[in-house]
Amino acid sequence: MSATYDYDIGIIGGGPAGSTAASYLAKAGLSVVVFESETFPRDHVGESLVPATTPVLIETGAMDKVEAAGFPKKYGAAWTSAEDRTIDHMGFEGLNHDFRAAEVLFSERDQAGVDRDYTFHVDRSKFDQILLQNAESLGAKVYHGVRVNRVDFSEQDRPVIEAKIGNQPVRVPVRMVVDASGRRTMMGSQLKCKVPDPVFNQYAVHTWFDNFDRKALATNKEQSDYIFIHFLPLTDTWVWQIPITDTITSIGVVTQKERFKASKDDLEGFFWETVGSRPALADALKNAQRVKEFKTEGDYSYALTKVADDSLIMIGDAARFVDPIFSSGVSVALNSARLASADIIAAFHAGDFRKDRFDTYTKTLRKAVANWYEFISIYYRLNILFTAFVQDPRYRLDVLKMLQGDVYDAEEPKALAAMRDIVTAVENDPDHLWHKYLGTLKAPMAAASF
Ligand SMILES: Cc1cc2nc3c(=O)[nH]c(=O)nc-3n(C[C@H](O)[C@H](O)[C@H](O)COP(=O)(O)OP(=O)(O)OC[C@H]3O[C@@H](n4cnc5c(N)ncnc54)[C@H](O)[C@@H]3O)c2cc1C
Repeated sequence: MSATYDYDIGIIGGGPAGSTAASYLAKAGLSVVVFESETFPRDHVGESLVPATTPVLIETGAMDKVEAAGFPKKYGAAWTSAEDRTIDHMGFEGLNHDFRAAEVLFSERDQAGVDRDYTFHVDRSKFDQILLQNAESLGAKVYHGVRVNRVDFSEQDRPVIEAKIGNQPVRVPVRMVVDASGRRTMMGSQLKCKVPDPVFNQYAVHTWFDNFDRKALATNKEQSDYIFIHFLPLTDTWVWQIPITDTITSIGVVTQKERFKASKDDLEGFFWETVGSRPALADALKNAQRVKEFKTEGDYSYALTKVADDSLIMIGDAARFVDPIFSSGVSVALNSARLASADIIAAFHAGDFRKDRFDTYTKTLRKAVANWYEFISIYYRLNILFTAFVQDPRYRLDVLKMLQGDVYDAEEPKALAAMRDIVTAVENDPDHLWHKYLGTLKAPMAAASF
């Protein structure tokens, strides 16, 4: 007797990764069930998108709804550093630039499948709900407020999702499971294949402010709707500034675990002490009104030793998480869902859900995340190099390619190799003018394998 299934695909988690996979798969005619443990709308960190989300939102049919929601448009990104910071560059490698500030506009570089020169900053409670409703409208069955406890893989080719609906335990057999459970890494934990990053163990403290003057640290007023990354004169510590509505701005401090640990019982004190190291930023924040509680996110970088197995694939944060400095997370969630769905649809038509079927997904994701990881690693090793490279005409478009999230083709960005050489030269020469600017987070430049 042939096996019976309740659905073709069972998805754990209805965040951007899960809802996007559900949309692609339902559109292709597969029967899909999504279990989401929370009841939407729910808050979530990760509010600034990159343009690589655009083709996915268009393909899944969610873009019109995202546009209609009126989220602030994001045309570019800007970086600032402490005003009194003077850098000796002495023309090293021809990098004669102002290291104190940099900006990019997405319109500077064409990107395949991206038909507009902006992306969005989003209130995730609204954005995630739009994406999940889109999946439902395409035919996916969504259970809200239902946590998956375990997946039983004891029957070959017929995983069974175990959850509770109300007080009723349920067992739902499917042909294949997609883990999109985010940083809870449901399957990574069950299968014990999650590996914490050896170096990146930062913490973030974040909240929203009303009436914050977004131009306070800007070099021109067009930048006020960009994302800002403000470097603080504290090692490996930075602040994000993300517009959420016309008047509300998300502000988050990212720092090392050690620095945070000392003051974790006093989030508010920690926040003000840290932003106080940039007086102009602290003053602008003091003139604004905080409209949310402070929240923390901790210990957040990890890899998984596998992202696919027989009848199983992990996507989004459930597959990998790297530092959010370049706003890559939602884009990786959407694009990993896109790539995984292509392999799943092919596996479905072949009637074969064995691990090898997901090789294209695994290889493409691994390569893309490896590029991000190296870029981030270099940034933390020597962040002045990043501001220099953004401004250098030889590397600008290549760096912008990364910042657009355009990392799923086969090429390694040329800027990465050049940055790698410079960082190595600076690290190996204690007398180098830039040696004193080296950070303390020395992640391997090659990503941990997964
Ligand atoms: C400090 C910080 C700042 C960030 N800033 C940015 C940014 O500016 N831009 C950006 O793009 N990204 C950013 N990110 C990353 C971004 O938040 C994530 O990459 C993104 O949310 C990943 O989407 P996802 O769908 O994989 O996971 P999530 O969005 O986390 O969705 C997972 C869903 O699964 C559900 N779930 C979990 N376990 C279960 C279970 N057992 N059963 C049922 N449901 C379950 C959860 O309730 C959740 O809704 C940031 C992250 C951090 C930590």
